[in-house]
Amino acid sequence: MTTRQQPAANLRIDGQVVPFNAGDTLLQAARAAGLGERVPALCQRDGSAADGGCGLCLVETVRAGATAHAPEIVRACATAAQPGMDVVTRTPLITESRRNTLQLMCSGLSPRVALPSLAGGRRAGEFRQLLHDYDVQPSTLATPAADVSRVDRAHPYLRFDPDLCITCRRCLHTCEDLQGQFVFGIGDRGPATRLLIGEHDSFAGSDCVACGACVEECPTGALFDLDRSPDTKRGDDLRSIRSTCGYCGVGCGVDVVVSNDRIVRIDGAPASPVNHGHLCAKGRYAHGFQSSPDRLTSPLLRRGGKLEPVSWPEAISWLVDRLQTIRDSAGPDALGAMTSSRSTNEANYLLQKLFRTRIGTNNVDNCARVCHASTALALGMVTGTGAASASYADIDVARCIVVAGANPTEAHPVVGARIKQAVRRGARLVVIDPRRIELADWSEVHLAPLPGTNVALFNAIAQVLLDEKLLDTTYLDERVEGLAELQAFLAQQDVATAAHICGIPEELIRKAARLIGSEAPALFISGLGLSELTQGTASVMTYCNLGMLTGSVGRPGGGMLPLRGQNNVQGNADMGALPDLFTGYQSIGLPAVREHVQALWDAPLPENPGLTIPEMIDAAEAGTIRALWIQGEDVAQSDPNTTHVRRALGRLDLLVVQELFMTDTAAYAHLVLPSAAALEQDGTFTNGERRIQRVRRAVSPPGDARADWQVVQDVANALGASWQYAGPAEVMDEIALAAPRLFGGVSYERLGNDGLQWPCPSADHPGTATVHANQFIRGRGQLVTVDYVPSPEQCSGEYPLLLITGRVLQHYNVGTMTRRTPNAELITADLLELNPGDAQALDVQSGQRVRVASHYGEIQVEALVSNRVEPGTVFLSFHFPESQTNVLTGPHVDAQSRCPEYKLTAVAVSAAV
Ligand code: SF4
Ligand code: SF4
Repeated sequence: MTTRQQPAANLRIDGQVVPFNAGDTLLQAARAAGLGERVPALCQRDGSAADGGCGLCLVETVRAGATAHAPEIVRACATAAQPGMDVVTRTPLITESRRNTLQLMCSGLSPRVALPSLAGGRRAGEFRQLLHDYDVQPSTLATPAADVSRVDRAHPYLRFDPDLCITCRRCLHTCEDLQGQFVFGIGDRGPATRLLIGEHDSFAGSDCVACGACVEECPTGALFDLDRSPDTKRGDDLRSIRSTCGYCGVGCGVDVVVSNDRIVRIDGAPASPVNHGHLCAKGRYAHGFQSSPDRLTSPLLRRGGKLEPVSWPEAISWLVDRLQTIRDSAGPDALGAMTSSRSTNEANYLLQKLFRTRIGTNNVDNCARVCHASTALALGMVTGTGAASASYADIDVARCIVVAGANPTEAHPVVGARIKQAVRRGARLVVIDPRRIELADWSEVHLAPLPGTNVALFNAIAQVLLDEKLLDTTYLDERVEGLAELQAFLAQQDVATAAHICGIPEELIRKAARLIGSEAPALFISGLGLSELTQGTASVMTYCNLGMLTGSVGRPGGGMLPLRGQNNVQGNADMGALPDLFTGYQSIGLPAVREHVQALWDAPLPENPGLTIPEMIDAAEAGTIRALWIQGEDVAQSDPNTTHVRRALGRLDLLVVQELFMTDTAAYAHLVLPSAAALEQDGTFTNGERRIQRVRRAVSPPGDARADWQVVQDVANALGASWQYAGPAEVMDEIALAAPRLFGGVSYERLGNDGLQWPCPSADHPGTATVHANQFIRGRGQLVTVDYVPSPEQCSGEYPLLLITGRVLQHYNVGTMTRRTPNAELITADLLELNPGDAQALDVQSGQRVRVASHYGEIQVEALVSNRVEPGTVFLSFHFPESQTNVLTGPHVDAQSRCPEYKLTAVAVSAAV
């Protein structure tokens, strides 16, 4: 994922002039010039250092100035390109040498290597092609009998056939250099040399994270996977459709390979600027849920207490009648909508438009409210936009990366891998997280603050930066305001007190501050560990103070990069599913904005700000909200204090749910509408770096399931609108008109495969990789003075431990999708992580069932004794409905953003009886 520099000089390969960069090897120069096929190299993957192990990349060189009679035979992977050098890739001597090498490699192989490729990844045919090119006949080889029973089949996805392995080590380099895992080793010597996988010679139980990258790189097909298994049923109509991953907010580009209207496999799109062909276990393998037999296939209407299938016309007519009846009897503000971060921008845009124009209420909100609302609000206040200032590409060039309250290797795995790659290249890493997450092992400094004490910590770091003059004074003078106030405010505080509040040694705070200050510009990555707290907005603002003090925001390799949880959580908010903002974050209170939007939508617009999601839930329980339309969100599982949420849902006169499956929320619905999944419809998602990307229909939705935007259009028209969108592209054209400052230059035609990063205000604008590059959108960046305020949620004698909730790698949110795939075999339950000291005090062992109780409820789960959590804290994921993790989380919210406090709940743990 490195960017090539400008070519420095030229050489000649087989007479062709080839430019190269300083430091390139001959092999790199040949590959960059598209001549890689002339220089076979089985041991080296693009982007890895030379291995030199396979010995195939021999070339003949004549250095500039040498006589034509002094050629040298060298390894192209280990020889530096030099200006004027003449390289010949094939001579009789080289050909013979390669043939001998290939024959030697074949000597231990099964005859199956000569068969047509049935398995393996993108490069699986490479070895076979070389045998053909160099006329190495498998029949002449001394091959042992194939023994397919030696194939490692213990992993839910990954396979290894040792009989096809030539120990070229390309998988080993891929795993280490691309994914930052160290799964493979090499055992024995000479002819007995063999590839080792983990401690037990099997993917199962190894450190493998199932990214699938080694499968893609294996040149023989020895490594393959379930989707590439010879047993996989597929027709001869294989085709590939470029789309965008429907899991996390990284937004990886995917090539979806389909046959007979079913997904056969998903490959990383090599040209994607987001992931450069890499994927994680969810994006690559967890697609089976789409064809799960329990997908919703027709609308379900509740009659006599039971949900019964009905036709779409009946469902829509019934729904419109109920919406009108409730609006007419209780008023428009008795209705509300929650748009989905799993659905497309176009569906989000249309649902908020429907509620504003056809119902007459601003009661529209999106699930970013319960995750990144604090981030958006904070960054919006201090910089002028609530989105990331930086891009993922900044990770590749950052000198210093700070990761606070995010666990990218599990929740945003492709970004996590990219951070590890950056560290391997020399970037310096600071991790701020109460848990010892994987990246803590890659960091130079790991600060583990007590949950909820971020503001005290960030103020202390700012204080050290100020005290030790680790500031960008020119940047501060020219671009930022509030420095004097911040200096005066921090002069009243001291680092030692903050260290005590956070539970971190003072010297460690100083060390982190010095590292950040001396290596700036720094890239400040963050996650929900900052935003989902009662001081969520304050956490992000004080974090951004660090970005401004060090002159990092708006600089290449620096800035603010909040990682977004769901595939389209960025776009969902961008589209205006917010109670006080129209599309593109335009205030509903500004007359010019109202006039513009009203003219475009051709309908009067409600004036009063609507309710947020937590407020809608409260109002539903109180009886003032009578109807809710929930698009693709399982609030009965995912929202905090779920006992309260379920009570509220149960009191509604009308609950409409658009979903893929019968979720816990859908079980409360009066009408359930079956949705098309991400790869079953056209549309766009916007990722965490503001990149709007095309989602393309690869397979048909099951039964009568439909794209959400189509259903919304039908309901709007039944309510009296005359929307005539022929497809989502026309919806996007209107989005561009609704918010021209951000999206004016966006159209499906321009999005192509790479997408566009907003702001993109005009048709000739290339999109924006770095926001605030010349000046902050709000004019000057704002430094803030916010004091630490302890959360109302504190430990007590009754509840002596602090619970943190979060995701694990193998699952996604409430597990609706991943639990319906073989990922469910990788992790089978939510586990409560307990520090060994606490476990001993409580007399609890790993595997034991424990009771976890908070002020709000209690559940039972299995314990996992782990050093990943500090004494006094416990961690629990929320992927399995049987755990009901959010029964424990409480009602506290950030006062400014209304974002709930998922990351801090006082609990008691005891052995279950
Ligand atoms: S799938 Fe990924 S993590 Fe696992 S061994 Fe292969 S490269 Fe390494
Ligand atoms: S990192 Fe996120 S977007 Fe990329 S493949 Fe994994 S889940 Fe999908």
